[in-house]
Amino acid sequence: MEFSEVPTPKLGLRDVLIKVRIASICGTDVHIYDWTRWAQHRFTPPRIIGHEFVGDVTRVGEEVTQIKVGDRVSAESHLTCGHCYQCSNGNSEVCRNFKLLGVDHDGAFAEYLVLPEHVLWKNDSNIPDEWATIQEPFGNAVDTVLAEDVAAKTVLILGAGPIGLFATGIARACGASLVMVSDPNNYRLAISKQMGAHIAVNPRRQDVVQLAFDATQNNGVDVVLEFSGNNQALNQGLKVITPGGRISILGIYERRVNIDLNKDVIFKKIRIYGITGRKVFSTWYKTSRFLSSGLVDPGPVITHHFPLKDYEKGMKLMKDGKCGKVILNV
Ligand code: NAD
Ligand code: ZN
Repeated sequence: MEFSEVPTPKLGLRDVLIKVRIASICGTDVHIYDWTRWAQHRFTPPRIIGHEFVGDVTRVGEEVTQIKVGDRVSAESHLTCGHCYQCSNGNSEVCRNFKLLGVDHDGAFAEYLVLPEHVLWKNDSNIPDEWATIQEPFGNAVDTVLAEDVAAKTVLILGAGPIGLFATGIARACGASLVMVSDPNNYRLAISKQMGAHIAVNPRRQDVVQLAFDATQNNGVDVVLEFSGNNQALNQGLKVITPGGRISILGIYERRVNIDLNKDVIFKKIRIYGITGRKVFSTWYKTSRFLSSGLVDPGPVITHHFPLKDYEKGMKLMKDGKCGKVILNV
Protein backbone atom coordinates (compact mmCIF):
# COMPACT_ATOMS: atom_id res chain seq x y z
CA MET A 1 0.00 0.00 0.00
CA GLU A 2 1.35 3.43 -0.82
CA PHE A 3 0.35 7.07 -0.65
CA SER A 4 0.69 8.74 -4.03
CA GLU A 5 -0.42 11.48 -6.40
CA VAL A 6 -3.01 10.30 -8.96
CA PRO A 7 -5.22 12.12 -11.51
CA THR A 8 -8.66 13.35 -10.42
CA PRO A 9 -11.13 10.59 -11.42
CA LYS A 10 -13.28 11.04 -14.55
CA LEU A 11 -17.00 11.64 -14.39
CA GLY A 12 -19.68 9.65 -16.30
CA LEU A 13 -23.11 11.02 -17.23
CA ARG A 14 -24.80 9.72 -14.05
CA ASP A 15 -21.78 10.20 -11.80
CA VAL A 16 -20.92 12.72 -9.14
CA LEU A 17 -17.48 14.06 -8.18
CA ILE A 18 -17.02 14.33 -4.42
CA LYS A 19 -14.29 16.12 -2.49
CA VAL A 20 -13.75 14.01 0.61
CA ARG A 21 -13.74 15.82 3.99
CA ILE A 22 -13.00 12.86 6.23
CA ALA A 23 -13.03 9.08 5.94
CA SER A 24 -12.85 6.27 8.49
CA ILE A 25 -11.07 2.92 8.59
CA CYS A 26 -13.05 -0.32 8.41
CA GLY A 27 -11.79 -3.84 9.12
CA THR A 28 -11.93 -4.50 5.36
CA ASP A 29 -9.33 -1.78 4.79
CA VAL A 30 -7.08 -3.42 7.38
CA HIS A 31 -7.44 -6.80 5.61
CA ILE A 32 -6.24 -5.16 2.40
CA TYR A 33 -3.40 -3.32 4.18
CA ASP A 34 -2.37 -6.63 5.77
CA TRP A 35 -2.78 -8.49 2.46
CA THR A 36 -4.64 -11.33 4.18
CA ARG A 37 -5.75 -14.49 2.39
CA TRP A 38 -9.16 -12.87 1.80
CA ALA A 39 -7.54 -9.76 0.25
CA GLN A 40 -5.30 -11.83 -2.01
CA HIS A 41 -8.33 -13.62 -3.44
CA ARG A 42 -10.72 -10.70 -3.58
CA PHE A 43 -8.70 -7.57 -4.36
CA THR A 44 -6.97 -6.54 -7.58
CA PRO A 45 -4.53 -3.62 -7.27
CA PRO A 46 -4.03 -0.84 -8.14
CA ARG A 47 -7.06 0.49 -6.32
CA ILE A 48 -7.84 3.39 -3.96
CA ILE A 49 -9.35 1.83 -0.82
CA GLY A 50 -11.85 3.18 1.74
CA HIS A 51 -15.64 3.28 1.77
CA GLU A 52 -16.67 5.17 4.90
CA PHE A 53 -16.60 8.93 4.27
CA VAL A 54 -18.32 12.28 4.11
CA GLY A 55 -17.59 14.84 1.43
CA ASP A 56 -18.89 17.68 -0.71
CA VAL A 57 -20.22 17.35 -4.22
CA THR A 58 -18.10 19.50 -6.53
CA ARG A 59 -19.37 18.39 -9.99
CA VAL A 60 -22.29 16.38 -11.34
CA GLY A 61 -22.70 14.49 -14.64
CA GLU A 62 -25.16 15.73 -17.25
CA GLU A 63 -27.85 13.15 -16.40
CA VAL A 64 -27.70 13.54 -12.61
CA THR A 65 -31.04 14.74 -11.26
CA GLN A 66 -31.18 14.39 -7.45
CA ILE A 67 -27.74 15.51 -6.28
CA LYS A 68 -26.43 19.06 -6.54
CA VAL A 69 -23.06 20.76 -6.27
CA GLY A 70 -22.53 21.61 -2.59
CA ASP A 71 -24.50 18.65 -1.17
CA ARG A 72 -22.72 17.02 1.78
CA VAL A 73 -22.90 13.29 1.03
CA SER A 74 -21.89 9.82 2.20
CA ALA A 75 -22.50 6.61 0.27
CA GLU A 76 -23.94 3.15 0.42
CA SER A 77 -20.78 1.09 -0.13
CA HIS A 78 -22.61 -1.65 -2.06
CA LEU A 79 -22.80 -0.32 -5.61
CA THR A 80 -25.90 -2.22 -6.65
CA CYS A 81 -26.97 -3.08 -10.19
CA GLY A 82 -30.62 -2.08 -9.79
CA HIS A 83 -31.99 -4.78 -12.11
CA CYS A 84 -31.25 -8.26 -10.71
CA TYR A 85 -33.96 -10.37 -9.01
CA GLN A 86 -32.89 -9.12 -5.56
CA CYS A 87 -32.70 -5.44 -6.51
CA SER A 88 -36.11 -5.74 -8.18
CA ASN A 89 -37.64 -7.22 -5.04
CA GLY A 90 -36.48 -4.74 -2.42
CA ASN A 91 -33.47 -6.80 -1.34
CA SER A 92 -30.66 -4.81 -2.88
CA GLU A 93 -28.40 -5.52 0.13
CA VAL A 94 -27.95 -8.94 -1.49
CA CYS A 95 -27.72 -7.65 -5.08
CA ARG A 96 -26.25 -10.41 -7.22
CA ASN A 97 -23.96 -8.03 -9.12
CA PHE A 98 -22.93 -5.51 -6.48
CA LYS A 99 -19.50 -3.92 -6.54
CA LEU A 100 -17.84 -2.92 -3.30
CA LEU A 101 -16.61 0.62 -2.94
CA GLY A 102 -12.88 0.66 -2.20
CA VAL A 103 -12.52 -2.95 -3.41
CA ASP A 104 -14.03 -3.11 -6.91
CA HIS A 105 -14.30 0.66 -7.43
CA ASP A 106 -11.87 3.41 -6.39
CA GLY A 107 -12.66 4.51 -2.86
CA ALA A 108 -12.60 7.34 -0.39
CA PHE A 109 -9.05 7.42 1.04
CA ALA A 110 -8.36 10.20 -1.45
CA GLU A 111 -9.01 13.86 -2.06
CA TYR A 112 -11.66 13.05 -4.68
CA LEU A 113 -13.85 10.11 -5.58
CA VAL A 114 -16.47 9.51 -8.25
CA LEU A 115 -19.68 7.61 -7.54
CA PRO A 116 -22.95 6.94 -9.34
CA GLU A 117 -25.72 9.19 -8.10
CA HIS A 118 -27.94 6.29 -6.99
CA VAL A 119 -25.68 5.21 -4.08
CA LEU A 120 -25.33 8.67 -2.53
CA TRP A 121 -26.91 9.69 0.74
CA LYS A 122 -27.47 13.40 1.50
CA ASN A 123 -26.47 13.96 5.10
CA ASP A 124 -28.69 15.55 7.70
CA SER A 125 -27.25 18.97 8.56
CA ASN A 126 -27.49 18.12 12.29
CA ILE A 127 -24.97 15.33 11.96
CA PRO A 128 -21.30 16.35 12.36
CA ASP A 129 -18.73 15.07 9.85
CA GLU A 130 -17.20 12.50 12.17
CA TRP A 131 -20.61 10.94 12.76
CA ALA A 132 -21.60 11.14 9.10
CA THR A 133 -18.59 9.06 8.08
CA ILE A 134 -19.51 6.17 10.41
CA GLN A 135 -23.12 5.82 9.19
CA GLU A 136 -22.20 2.89 6.95
CA PRO A 137 -20.99 0.57 9.77
CA PHE A 138 -23.60 2.07 12.11
CA GLY A 139 -26.19 0.86 9.58
CA ASN A 140 -24.83 -2.70 9.91
CA ALA A 141 -25.47 -2.43 13.64
CA VAL A 142 -28.99 -1.05 13.08
CA ASP A 143 -30.00 -4.02 10.94
CA THR A 144 -28.39 -6.54 13.30
CA VAL A 145 -30.13 -5.14 16.39
CA LEU A 146 -33.48 -4.51 14.72
CA ALA A 147 -33.96 -7.79 12.83
CA GLU A 148 -36.63 -8.08 15.55
CA ASP A 149 -37.51 -5.70 18.36
CA VAL A 150 -35.45 -5.57 21.56
CA ALA A 151 -37.81 -3.55 23.78
CA ALA A 152 -37.73 -4.78 27.39
CA LYS A 153 -35.65 -7.76 26.28
CA THR A 154 -32.33 -9.12 27.50
CA VAL A 155 -29.50 -8.84 24.98
CA LEU A 156 -26.02 -10.37 24.76
CA ILE A 157 -23.61 -8.64 22.37
CA LEU A 158 -20.58 -10.70 21.33
CA GLY A 159 -17.67 -8.57 20.08
CA ALA A 160 -17.17 -4.91 21.02
CA GLY A 161 -15.51 -3.73 17.83
CA PRO A 162 -16.92 -0.48 16.46
CA ILE A 163 -20.06 -2.20 15.14
CA GLY A 164 -20.78 -4.11 18.36
CA LEU A 165 -20.29 -0.84 20.25
CA PHE A 166 -22.74 1.00 18.01
CA ALA A 167 -25.16 -1.90 18.54
CA THR A 168 -24.81 -1.45 22.30
CA GLY A 169 -26.01 2.15 22.02
CA ILE A 170 -28.80 1.19 19.62
CA ALA A 171 -30.06 -1.66 21.82
CA ARG A 172 -30.21 0.71 24.80
CA ALA A 173 -31.96 3.39 22.73
CA CYS A 174 -34.54 0.77 21.65
CA GLY A 175 -35.36 -0.13 25.23
CA ALA A 176 -33.43 -3.35 25.91
CA SER A 177 -33.72 -4.01 29.64
CA LEU A 178 -30.34 -5.73 29.91
CA VAL A 179 -27.36 -5.32 27.58
CA MET A 180 -24.38 -7.52 28.30
CA VAL A 181 -21.25 -7.16 26.13
CA SER A 182 -18.43 -9.69 25.78
CA ASP A 183 -14.98 -8.97 24.32
CA PRO A 184 -11.45 -10.03 25.34
CA ASN A 185 -10.27 -6.45 24.69
CA ASN A 186 -10.52 -4.39 27.91
CA TYR A 187 -10.03 -1.10 26.07
CA ARG A 188 -13.18 -1.80 24.06
CA LEU A 189 -15.07 -3.17 27.07
CA ALA A 190 -14.55 0.21 28.74
CA ILE A 191 -16.12 1.93 25.72
CA SER A 192 -19.06 -0.50 25.86
CA LYS A 193 -19.86 0.83 29.34
CA GLN A 194 -19.88 4.36 27.94
CA MET A 195 -22.25 3.16 25.21
CA GLY A 196 -24.65 1.89 27.85
CA ALA A 197 -23.72 -1.75 28.52
CA HIS A 198 -25.07 -2.88 31.90
CA ILE A 199 -22.50 -5.67 32.13
CA ALA A 200 -19.14 -5.88 30.33
CA VAL A 201 -17.47 -9.30 30.35
CA ASN A 202 -14.01 -10.47 29.36
CA PRO A 203 -14.39 -14.06 28.08
CA ARG A 204 -10.70 -14.80 28.77
CA ARG A 205 -11.23 -14.20 32.46
CA GLN A 206 -14.91 -14.69 33.11
CA ASP A 207 -17.52 -17.33 32.32
CA VAL A 208 -19.79 -15.55 29.80
CA VAL A 209 -22.39 -18.33 29.80
CA GLN A 210 -22.69 -18.50 33.58
CA LEU A 211 -22.84 -14.70 33.94
CA ALA A 212 -25.58 -14.46 31.29
CA PHE A 213 -27.69 -17.07 33.10
CA ASP A 214 -27.04 -15.35 36.44
CA ALA A 215 -28.22 -12.02 34.99
CA THR A 216 -31.47 -13.48 33.59
CA GLN A 217 -32.87 -15.56 36.48
CA ASN A 218 -31.45 -18.60 34.72
CA ASN A 219 -33.70 -18.05 31.69
CA GLY A 220 -30.94 -17.16 29.22
CA VAL A 221 -31.06 -14.06 27.04
CA ASP A 222 -33.84 -13.21 24.59
CA VAL A 223 -31.49 -11.83 21.94
CA VAL A 224 -27.89 -12.57 20.92
CA LEU A 225 -26.07 -10.22 18.52
CA GLU A 226 -22.91 -11.76 17.07
CA PHE A 227 -20.19 -9.31 15.98
CA SER A 228 -17.03 -11.24 16.87
CA GLY A 229 -16.66 -13.65 13.95
CA ASN A 230 -15.36 -16.08 16.57
CA ASN A 231 -16.71 -19.65 16.63
CA GLN A 232 -16.31 -19.99 20.38
CA ALA A 233 -18.23 -16.77 20.98
CA LEU A 234 -20.97 -17.93 18.61
CA ASN A 235 -21.33 -21.15 20.61
CA GLN A 236 -21.50 -19.21 23.88
CA GLY A 237 -24.30 -17.17 22.32
CA LEU A 238 -26.17 -20.28 21.20
CA LYS A 239 -25.85 -21.80 24.69
CA VAL A 240 -27.26 -18.77 26.53
CA ILE A 241 -30.03 -17.86 24.13
CA THR A 242 -33.36 -18.70 25.75
CA PRO A 243 -35.44 -21.31 23.87
CA GLY A 244 -37.65 -19.41 21.41
CA GLY A 245 -35.16 -16.52 21.25
CA ARG A 246 -33.26 -15.08 18.30
CA ILE A 247 -29.71 -14.50 17.19
CA SER A 248 -28.56 -12.07 14.50
CA ILE A 249 -25.14 -12.73 13.03
CA LEU A 250 -23.07 -10.02 11.34
CA GLY A 251 -19.61 -11.35 12.26
CA ILE A 252 -17.66 -13.03 9.49
CA TYR A 253 -15.75 -16.23 10.27
CA GLU A 254 -12.35 -17.17 8.95
CA ARG A 255 -13.37 -20.82 8.62
CA ARG A 256 -16.51 -22.91 8.52
CA VAL A 257 -18.16 -22.79 11.91
CA ASN A 258 -18.95 -25.72 14.12
CA ILE A 259 -22.27 -25.57 15.97
CA ASP A 260 -24.59 -28.10 17.57
CA LEU A 261 -27.63 -27.59 15.31
CA ASN A 262 -29.85 -30.21 17.01
CA LYS A 263 -29.26 -29.14 20.58
CA ASP A 264 -28.64 -25.40 20.25
CA VAL A 265 -30.90 -24.44 17.34
CA ILE A 266 -33.61 -26.92 16.39
CA PHE A 267 -34.77 -28.20 19.78
CA LYS A 268 -34.52 -24.64 21.15
CA LYS A 269 -36.56 -23.34 18.20
CA ILE A 270 -34.45 -20.22 17.91
CA ARG A 271 -34.46 -17.88 14.93
CA ILE A 272 -31.15 -17.13 13.20
CA TYR A 273 -30.74 -14.06 11.02
CA GLY A 274 -27.78 -13.61 8.72
CA ILE A 275 -27.17 -9.89 8.31
CA THR A 276 -25.25 -8.28 5.50
CA GLY A 277 -24.90 -4.71 4.29
CA ARG A 278 -27.77 -2.32 4.82
CA LYS A 279 -31.30 -1.89 3.47
CA VAL A 280 -31.05 0.85 0.85
CA PHE A 281 -32.09 3.36 1.94
CA SER A 282 -34.44 2.47 4.82
CA THR A 283 -31.48 1.58 7.08
CA TRP A 284 -29.88 4.92 6.21
CA TYR A 285 -33.02 6.78 7.27
CA LYS A 286 -33.03 4.95 10.61
CA THR A 287 -29.30 5.52 11.09
CA SER A 288 -29.63 9.20 10.33
CA ARG A 289 -32.47 9.58 12.84
CA PHE A 290 -30.68 7.63 15.59
CA LEU A 291 -27.81 10.10 15.21
CA SER A 292 -29.56 13.39 14.47
CA SER A 293 -32.15 12.93 17.24
CA GLY A 294 -29.51 12.22 19.87
CA LEU A 295 -30.99 8.75 20.54
CA VAL A 296 -27.47 7.32 20.17
CA ASP A 297 -24.24 9.23 20.79
CA PRO A 298 -21.50 7.39 18.87
CA GLY A 299 -18.86 9.78 20.29
CA PRO A 300 -17.16 7.31 22.67
CA VAL A 301 -16.55 4.89 19.77
CA ILE A 302 -14.66 7.49 17.72
CA THR A 303 -11.27 7.38 19.41
CA HIS A 304 -8.55 8.54 17.00
CA HIS A 305 -7.90 11.06 14.22
CA PHE A 306 -4.95 11.12 11.82
CA PRO A 307 -4.15 13.05 8.65
CA LEU A 308 -4.73 10.81 5.61
CA LYS A 309 -1.00 10.64 4.86
CA ASP A 310 -0.50 8.99 8.28
CA TYR A 311 -2.97 6.19 7.45
CA GLU A 312 -0.41 3.58 8.53
CA LYS A 313 -0.67 4.74 12.14
CA GLY A 314 -4.42 4.15 11.93
CA MET A 315 -4.01 0.71 10.34
CA LYS A 316 -1.56 -0.35 13.08
CA LEU A 317 -3.90 0.85 15.82
CA MET A 318 -6.77 -1.09 14.26
CA LYS A 319 -4.62 -4.23 14.19
CA ASP A 320 -3.72 -3.79 17.88
CA GLY A 321 -7.36 -3.16 18.78
CA LYS A 322 -6.45 -0.26 21.11
CA CYS A 323 -9.05 1.89 19.35
CA GLY A 324 -12.65 2.26 18.35
CA LYS A 325 -13.20 4.03 15.03
CA VAL A 326 -10.18 5.72 13.48
CA ILE A 327 -10.86 8.85 11.41
CA LEU A 328 -8.64 10.03 8.56
CA ASN A 329 -8.71 13.75 7.83
CA VAL A 330 -8.29 14.28 4.11
P1 NAD B 1 -13.80 -5.88 14.78
O1 NAD B 1 -12.87 -6.89 14.25
O2 NAD B 1 -13.31 -4.52 15.10
O3 NAD B 1 -14.52 -6.45 16.10
C1 NAD B 1 -14.57 -7.78 16.45
C2 NAD B 1 -14.43 -7.83 17.98
O4 NAD B 1 -14.67 -9.16 18.40
C3 NAD B 1 -13.04 -7.42 18.46
O5 NAD B 1 -13.12 -6.34 19.37
C4 NAD B 1 -12.52 -8.69 19.11
O6 NAD B 1 -11.70 -8.43 20.25
C5 NAD B 1 -13.82 -9.38 19.51
N1 NAD B 1 -13.67 -10.81 19.77
C6 NAD B 1 -12.75 -11.68 19.30
N2 NAD B 1 -12.92 -12.89 19.86
C7 NAD B 1 -13.99 -12.79 20.69
C8 NAD B 1 -14.64 -13.69 21.56
N3 NAD B 1 -14.26 -14.96 21.68
N4 NAD B 1 -15.71 -13.24 22.28
C9 NAD B 1 -16.11 -11.95 22.18
N5 NAD B 1 -15.52 -11.05 21.37
C10 NAD B 1 -14.47 -11.47 20.65
O7 NAD B 1 -15.00 -5.80 13.74
P2 NAD B 1 -16.18 -4.74 13.45
O8 NAD B 1 -15.69 -3.77 12.44
O9 NAD B 1 -16.79 -4.22 14.71
O10 NAD B 1 -17.17 -5.74 12.70
C11 NAD B 1 -17.79 -6.78 13.43
C12 NAD B 1 -17.87 -8.06 12.63
O11 NAD B 1 -18.80 -7.88 11.54
C13 NAD B 1 -16.57 -8.52 11.96
O12 NAD B 1 -16.52 -9.93 12.01
C14 NAD B 1 -16.71 -8.04 10.54
O13 NAD B 1 -15.95 -8.83 9.63
C15 NAD B 1 -18.19 -8.23 10.31
N6 NAD B 1 -18.81 -7.37 9.30
C16 NAD B 1 -19.78 -7.91 8.54
C17 NAD B 1 -20.46 -7.13 7.62
C18 NAD B 1 -21.56 -7.73 6.84
O14 NAD B 1 -22.08 -7.07 5.95
N7 NAD B 1 -21.98 -8.96 7.15
C19 NAD B 1 -20.14 -5.78 7.48
C20 NAD B 1 -19.16 -5.24 8.28
C21 NAD B 1 -18.49 -6.03 9.20
ZN1 ZN C 1 -28.79 -6.11 -8.28
